[in-house]
Amino acid sequence: MSLYPWQGELWRQLTEARARLPHALLLHGPAGIGKRELALELARWLLCQTPSAAGACGECPSCQWFEQGGHPDFRLIEPAAESEPAEEGKKGGRRISVEQVREVVEFLTLTSHQGGWRAVVLQPAESLGMAAANALLKTLEEPPPKTIFLLVSHQPRRLLPTILSRCRKLAVAGPEQAAAAAWLRDQAVVEPESLLAEAGGAPLLALDHAEPERLARRERFLAGLARPEREDLSALAGEYQQRVGEAWGWLIRWLCDVLLCRATGQVRYFIDHAEAIRQAARGADDTRLWAAYRQILSDGRWLQHPLNGQLLLESWLIRYAELGAELGTRR
Ligand SMILES: [Zn+2]
Repeated sequence: MSLYPWQGELWRQLTEARARLPHALLLHGPAGIGKRELALELARWLLCQTPSAAGACGECPSCQWFEQGGHPDFRLIEPAAESEPAEEGKKGGRRISVEQVREVVEFLTLTSHQGGWRAVVLQPAESLGMAAANALLKTLEEPPPKTIFLLVSHQPRRLLPTILSRCRKLAVAGPEQAAAAAWLRDQAVVEPESLLAEAGGAPLLALDHAEPERLARRERFLAGLARPEREDLSALAGEYQQRVGEAWGWLIRWLCDVLLCRATGQVRYFIDHAEAIRQAARGADDTRLWAAYRQILSDGRWLQHPLNGQLLLESWLIRYAELGAELGTRR
């Protein structure tokens, strides 16, 4: 485990403030920039028996426990994994349970194993439901001495005010685009710029997106959006029925790009498909385009429900293809 190159300055500030760290720190910023890793590294460093300013030693028993995932003075609370991969747009589908919170509250009533710090990393904090948040409040407000809560949030506006008010907030930023692209190249990503654009500049998200099978799915789906009149839309929806959230994310970004292109001539997300976006934007009807975009965006709420994903996706694709006459894609 280690920090990402763009986290050095923030790390320095945190380690210099060791004696003044609050008992609850909320690390917030966009998804995919390494906030979770930063929180874990901070916890490891606080628990380390021989820490330096650079970080945890990596050698002591505490660091080894941490490495093996079984440190007795540490808890990581995340929503329980589901069998299906977490999908974009599938917000609120995975929750931290009340039982998970109660276990941590109970853990903090015991004395620390090492007699030193105890740390709890909770992420993402927006996956705390009302009941789980309420179970946490008292402990979050007055934790035992030498206890630190590290909450991680991609969407702090979705946190309950009662949670927010008990944390000191720390904004975490990602790297500049050039640095992010250079880092991705070091990870053997061949054309990082287009993946970074699609990921809104978040390097870890872009790295996930560089996975070859996903790249192939993306190209296949975007080819369908570029030429909907040549597609069997029902079959296309069938191919993506297990990954409706992913397809929804592409369709929404594609429509964003078409709208943006009409307004400014620019493309934000699919810079490697700029020509197809321009083609789609030519002659489109803004009113119908906006209406379709809003409808499909709002339909994203269904992604967390166990509906028939194929039918849902097919209805979006038909809606999109019907824009075709205006989009100019049917010529
Ligand atoms: Zn150590």
